[in-house]
Amino acid sequence: MGGMGSGQHWCCGAKDSTNDYRSIDVRRWKRDGLLAPHQSFGWQWSRHGEVVASIQVRTELDRVILTYRHRSGGEDWKGENYPVYLDWTACNLGVQRPWFLCPARGCGRRVAILYGGRIFACRHCYQLAYPSQRETWDDRAARRADRIRDKLGWEPGILNDNGWKPKGMHWNTFERLTAQHDTFVQISLAGMVAKLNLPEPSLNVTEDQRKEIQRLSGLGVPIREIAAIVGISVPTIYKYYREDLITGNALDNSEVVSALYDAAMKGNVKAQIYWTKRRCGWKEGGEIFDDMDNQSKGQIQVMTNTLIPAGDSRDEHRSPLRGAGGGTEPVES
Ligand SMILES: [Zn+2]
Repeated sequence: MGGMGSGQHWCCGAKDSTNDYRSIDVRRWKRDGLLAPHQSFGWQWSRHGEVVASIQVRTELDRVILTYRHRSGGEDWKGENYPVYLDWTACNLGVQRPWFLCPARGCGRRVAILYGGRIFACRHCYQLAYPSQRETWDDRAARRADRIRDKLGWEPGILNDNGWKPKGMHWNTFERLTAQHDTFVQISLAGMVAKLNLPEPSLNVTEDQRKEIQRLSGLGVPIREIAAIVGISVPTIYKYYREDLITGNALDNSEVVSALYDAAMKGNVKAQIYWTKRRCGWKEGGEIFDDMDNQSKGQIQVMTNTLIPAGDSRDEHRSPLRGAGGGTEPVES
C-alpha cells in the first residue's frame, strides 16, 4: 500500500485551495455501496494514470476506520489508524444521506468531504478556500475556456490554437462552444494584459473584411457560410476574426500572446507563470465535485501537522453537534 505523498507546496499568498488536497467524499462511497458495515476496501488517487496515494478503509456499523501511512518532507513514514464516525440525515423520499463527522479533535462537523493532509479533516479545520473563492475573474475565464477545450477534444491550454470540430458534433453546437471559448480566452487575455502592464494590442485586420464578417454574423449567417462568402477557411476565420464574430470589438490575440511571450522571456515572473499555466493547460484547480477521479488529478499534496485525530472517544467527537436544539445544520462541503 502506498501512503499519502510527500509534501510540496507551490503556491503562496492565498489560502490553500481544496484542490491541493486529496479528499474522500462520503456521497461517492455511498453511491458505490462501500458504506455497508463489515467490509474493507482500498481507496486511491492517481495522477497521470499512476497511483500516487492510497488508504485502506474498514467499515463498521456507524463509522469507518482509515488506515494509511504518511510522511512530510524527508521524514520517515508514519502509520495512522483512526475512526471517522458517520451520521445520517433523512432527505427526500425517505433516503438516508450519509455524512462524515470531521475526526479532528474538537471539530466533529458534519461534512460530505474530508481532505487528507496528515489526517483527514474538514475544510474548516484546514481553513481551505474553494478554488472559486481565490480565483480572479480572468483565471475563471481561462478555466471555463479550458473546460470547453476539453469538451471539444482540443489540446489543453488557451494559448494554443483552436482545434477542429469533433466528429459527430453538430455545427451549431461547435460554433456555439467555439464562440464561448473565444470569449473566455479574450477575457482571460484582457485580464493578463491588465495584470502584466503589457502594451495594448492593436487591431490588425482589413477594415472591409471585418465589416463584412460583422455584417454577415449580425444577420445570423453561420460561420462556415461566412467563411465561404469572404473566401477564407473556417479555422482561419476563427483564428483571426473571432472577435468580430462575437462582439466585433476585441483584441488581436496573436499580438497579446507575443507580447506575453516577450515578457516571459525577459524574466517577468508573472508572465512566465501565466504562460506556463495557460500554454500547458496547467491547472491550479478544476471543478472539485464533478467526480473524484478528476478531483485527484494533478493535485499537489500539502502536509499539515497541527491537526490530530480525536481517536476513539466518540463523545468528544459528537459533542459539537449534539446540542439540545436538535443539532447543527449540516455543513455543506
Ligand atoms: Zn473539522
